[in-house]
Amino acid sequence: MTSAPLPRGPAAPPASDRLGRPLRNLRISVTDRCNMRCRYCMPEKEYVWLPRQSILTFEEIDRLVGVFTGLGVGKVRLTGGEPLLRHDLPTLVELLARRDAVRDLALTTNGILLGREAARLRAAGLGRVTVSLDTLRPERMAEFARSAHHPDVIAGVDAAIAAGFRSVKLNSVVIRGYNDDEVLDLLAFAREHGVEARFIEYMDVGGATAWSRDQVVSQPEILELISRRYGPVRPLDDRGWAPAERFALPDGTRFGVIASTTAPFCRTCDRGRLTADGTFLLCLYGERGLDLREPLRSGAGDDEIAGRIAAVWRDRTERGAEERAALPERGVLHRIESLRADPRREMHTRGG
Ligand code: SAM
Repeated sequence: MTSAPLPRGPAAPPASDRLGRPLRNLRISVTDRCNMRCRYCMPEKEYVWLPRQSILTFEEIDRLVGVFTGLGVGKVRLTGGEPLLRHDLPTLVELLARRDAVRDLALTTNGILLGREAARLRAAGLGRVTVSLDTLRPERMAEFARSAHHPDVIAGVDAAIAAGFRSVKLNSVVIRGYNDDEVLDLLAFAREHGVEARFIEYMDVGGATAWSRDQVVSQPEILELISRRYGPVRPLDDRGWAPAERFALPDGTRFGVIASTTAPFCRTCDRGRLTADGTFLLCLYGERGLDLREPLRSGAGDDEIAGRIAAVWRDRTERGAEERAALPERGVLHRIESLRADPRREMHTRGG
């Protein structure tokens, strides 16, 4: 592992796309593997995995992050697949945290392995953690996500809180007939733990091969459920470019809703995505990808790679979620055969 001094200094002014959206956020999938099989993400029995030799090394990821910060990226989120399945993840965190231009370094995890990693991740310089928690009932998780590790997820949340991250959030995808009766319990759990809940509408992304419109619990429905219990909720006017709209209960408790299905926010999407094998994607729904692994491994310099990234970003017009929302008939995005033919279309490969 190299320990040479890194170029310091603030992130460059962001490159903007054709709709005036800057490239400020990068979500990096560090592995396509996952230790859960959530019905809304990986419902199939078998998957086509990315070839092992194609997965970027930590040094390659770090170098690319350096290139991205040169184009204006200041926020980086590690995701997957399940990022904590990637061996020795804190070492990557340490590399990225050494870059001053990375002002915000976050992780999205299902929490199963967080109990044993939280303190090391914090010490390595990770700033924020989001734990996906869809149910408080272990038997539901066993059935819905084919995992018996519910107690480990709860231990992971506790460990994250104890580790003293700048922020810990809980993500819950709300699905009618599965966990819509737990919205209030999940909110109460977050409140008791002093962390913020985020409710996410079920999305018809690649991987969601069992998606149907009737299972989506919309933002207005979620707010109605919460207001009926707690009284009127107050919208907080602090959204900016963030995907979540935030609200406060009468007692001040804050929570967020990500209405990506019924009220998409493509107009303020400043997020690029990097798959574990180095494909740069312009949209969660997008078909266009730029292979960065090839230039990385064939000796291209940082300026050349930056030029290629900037060129595709400047040409970006993608508004995947808005285009999906405008469809009169909306079914699944990709059928399983098409996901098998190109695993980069999978949510767990592109990173949630
Ligand atoms: N394994 C990690 C985790 O569980 O947080 C990171 C990857 S996961 C793909 C990232 C996020 O995407 C999770 O919060 C998950 O709930 C969300 N997600 C996956 N499929 C989804 C879907 N069809 N609709 C909405 N959110 C989804």
